[in-house]
Amino acid sequence: MGSPVVRRSPVHGGVVVAAQRLTPRMRRITVRSDAAVGLDVRPAQDIELLLREASGRRVKRRYTIRHARQETGELDLDVLLHGDGPGARWGEHAEPGDPVEYQGPRGKLELRSAPWHLLVGDESALPAIAAIAEALPAHELALAVVEVEDGDDELPVAAETRWVHRGGAPAGTADRLIAAVTDLAIADGARAYLMGESRAMVALRAVLEQRGIDHDAIFVKGYWNIGRPDRLAGRTPAAG
Ligand SMILES: Cc1cc2nc3c(=O)[nH]c(=O)nc-3n(C[C@H](O)[C@H](O)[C@H](O)COP(=O)(O)OP(=O)(O)OC[C@H]3O[C@@H](n4cnc5c(N)ncnc54)[C@H](O)[C@@H]3O)c2cc1C
Repeated sequence: MGSPVVRRSPVHGGVVVAAQRLTPRMRRITVRSDAAVGLDVRPAQDIELLLREASGRRVKRRYTIRHARQETGELDLDVLLHGDGPGARWGEHAEPGDPVEYQGPRGKLELRSAPWHLLVGDESALPAIAAIAEALPAHELALAVVEVEDGDDELPVAAETRWVHRGGAPAGTADRLIAAVTDLAIADGARAYLMGESRAMVALRAVLEQRGIDHDAIFVKGYWNIGRPDRLAGRTPAAG
């Protein structure tokens, strides 16, 4: 018997063609790549950027494809400037002309039909929540519940949106989002999508199951881990 074939996702080359500040803490970086010409992107799929830590070590960081323009091969990535990390640093400093390497698109989220969709997350998931809201059929209702630092972080979402302001408290704990969903009227047949800090999303899932949403109707994805760099994100219970 031969050894199993390991298929690695190919690395694509691209270039930054635009960078603009969307909010004080979010920058939209547009990457153009031949591999993205004609590419079919599903809502909330992402690419994995190959970046370098300050030490020079190579790391990967995932960013949602907020918009894809098939004709030109352009991908808009909305990068949260949360502080220190190779991804946040790239988002802060990327400028037109910078070369980029990435793998993907990735992402397993499948939008299924439902009368009501609940989209919950923090600002790292705001690009995914906005993309999902835009992709839902007009007759399917959606409510977004998004935690951000303050009103300056709010961006348009094509759904009714409840903004939860942290107001200086540390990011990544579940308490404020749990409080925000506790009194919601949950429609029969609801589906939920939870994207944000890994443990916070697991805690939120338990609350929503108690509120009557089926386990199988809840998509959970850990986007980052409090106090830890992203290299361990795939090993949390919330990762998918
Ligand atoms: C499928 C997927 C899609 C994603 N899409 C986006 C996107 O569109 N836009 C986006 O901004 N992020 C997105 N993320 C989250 C992003 O990949 C992580 O936040 C990542 O950790 C950022 O890397 P970094 O190098 O900046 O920080 P890291 O080196 O990973 O972490 C450094 C420190 O910063 C903290 N940290 C990391 N992320 C955050 C955060 N969001 N808020 C507060 N503290 C943080 C860590 O806990 C750690 O202490 C996505 C993640 C996944 C899995």
